[in-house]
Amino acid sequence: MMAQMWRTALAAHPSVHVVANADDPMVVWAAIGTAHVVWFSAGQRWLDDSWVCPECGSAIERSGGDWWCTGCTLRRPQPQWVVEDDGVIDPKGDWHLVKLQLPGQVNLGNAATALATAAEFGVRPLEAVPRLATVASVAGRYAQVERDGRVIRLLLAKNPASWLEAFDMADEAPTLLSINARDPDGFDTSWLYDVDFAPLRGRPVLITGDRAYDLAVRLEVNDVPFRHVRTFDEAIRTAPPGRLEVIANYTAFQDIRAELDRVN
Ligand SMILES: [Zn+2]
Repeated sequence: MMAQMWRTALAAHPSVHVVANADDPMVVWAAIGTAHVVWFSAGQRWLDDSWVCPECGSAIERSGGDWWCTGCTLRRPQPQWVVEDDGVIDPKGDWHLVKLQLPGQVNLGNAATALATAAEFGVRPLEAVPRLATVASVAGRYAQVERDGRVIRLLLAKNPASWLEAFDMADEAPTLLSINARDPDGFDTSWLYDVDFAPLRGRPVLITGDRAYDLAVRLEVNDVPFRHVRTFDEAIRTAPPGRLEVIANYTAFQDIRAELDRVN
């Protein structure tokens, strides 16, 4: 549905310049008809939204980093920007080391997107790369706050793909999960079953939020031990001093951010 909306919007605005991920079949299908498109390759770890071609319904096959539809001409376009190791290759073939304060492989992909977008505005990678390193948080995401001897880091995860990335970013440390199901989150929590919480095994896990009990059932099925806490304050008191990773979905994240005085 999202891909179709983007496709329709772009068809109505042919002068728009698009920077899009060549590794995501849905994104490629949404952007491929536009006149001005720059492709980057940042990888795609979450595949469960794109096993089937959005154009013809045939299976999508993958090999190495490549993908193609088995029933029509939709296939991965050649990217001009490529994430490689801990850097990004630009369209001239020059590799730039990208050092970030933001954690995780996914933010290296976001950095490649930012470099490609900046280049569309005439900013060269040599100028843009050092500026990326100055970003420490984004509207509270990845922010670190110290409270009562706990170093709390906030990670936002609002769909199965971002939960996968959050587990990748989080340290092997006590972890608080908070789940709400208000309007911006969606009322249906069945998506919890699309997420594999197994990476949390071995970490002390606390859960909270309006729908903590939905999460409790999911964790029990997933064989991940946990402890329920009623409030964020209780979570801080329960966690041992040191690092506390907080992974929350949209309104749960905003609630915790408010408790921490709207940390940015
Ligand atoms: Zn197809």
